[in-house]
Amino acid sequence: RRAFYARSGHLPAKTRDGIELTVMGNIEMPEEVVAVKDRGGDGIGLYRTEFQYLARQDFPSEDELYEHYKDVLDVMPGQPVTIRTLDINGDKAMAHNSDIEENPVLGLRAIRYCLKKPEVFITQLRAILRAAQHGQVRILVPMISKIEEVQQTRRLLEKAAESLKKEGFRHQRRVPLGIMIEVPSAAIMADALAREVDFFSIGTNDLIQYTMAIDRGNRHVAYLYSPLHPAVLRLLKHVTEAGARHNVPVFMCGEMAGESIYVPILLGLGIKELSVNAQAIPLIKSAVRAVDVEQARQFVDRLLQQTTIAQIEKLLETTYGDLK
Ligand code: PEP
Ligand code: MG
Repeated sequence: RRAFYARSGHLPAKTRDGIELTVMGNIEMPEEVVAVKDRGGDGIGLYRTEFQYLARQDFPSEDELYEHYKDVLDVMPGQPVTIRTLDINGDKAMAHNSDIEENPVLGLRAIRYCLKKPEVFITQLRAILRAAQHGQVRILVPMISKIEEVQQTRRLLEKAAESLKKEGFRHQRRVPLGIMIEVPSAAIMADALAREVDFFSIGTNDLIQYTMAIDRGNRHVAYLYSPLHPAVLRLLKHVTEAGARHNVPVFMCGEMAGESIYVPILLGLGIKELSVNAQAIPLIKSAVRAVDVEQARQFVDRLLQQTTIAQIEKLLETTYGDLK
């Protein structure tokens, strides 16, 4: 059965009513791209780039980063590779010499860190723009919580491209720029953020954590952690509607996308691209093939009228329980 699923990953993820979904892979280490390709992934929807910054005293050089990114692109010719800029601190790699923060996940994490350390950020942006000449790169920025952070990122991206041009490095200047929607303020401001970016990618791992004030890594509160909290579903709806109004595609790369039973919810919300761990790709593609989007849309309307996790779970189980 496992072998069948691995092969079936290469069948298209087309819904019963003929809508084609893109199912991509999440990776951390460059070599994981091979597993995504083997399982039938349509590209890389989330390349977490913290790994190269782990367990060392200095920062990786531009050339080193460029080589890593190029390695991934070489395995995925013609398919999108979404490189997420450094999501350092918080629960990920720690920057050396950083001051101890009492609440790192609410602290100088990800884009906040990068904007405070523009030299570190520009090194990564230059490496990405240089790698982008070898494939179909998208840039994804984590932990955006306000519009100014996107505008500052764009300015630094311009600066990185200018410096590459001046120094005569080959690079691709026009690269789609998207943001993670994983902080409630970004979800709420999605209509305004949509004017600033080329795509959204919803990070449910952090969005759930920050919406419900539940530490995603704390086992004492793990029983409270659920993508089916009605507040989370309403936020998702708010984001997908904003995206649709502004013609900004909405993707999902958080772990909610990797559970087959949630697929009808995500399709009903209008999400067109899912990115999941390599192992989950065939299963998610087969769940997509079992769903009718129009029915899923009506189902989501009913889900959104429920006010407790228990009611939502029950409705989901009775309607789509066989997708598990
Ligand atoms: C998320 O927050 O859902 C996400 C995909 O990012 P990470 O798990 O790397 O924080
Ligand atoms: Mg996150």
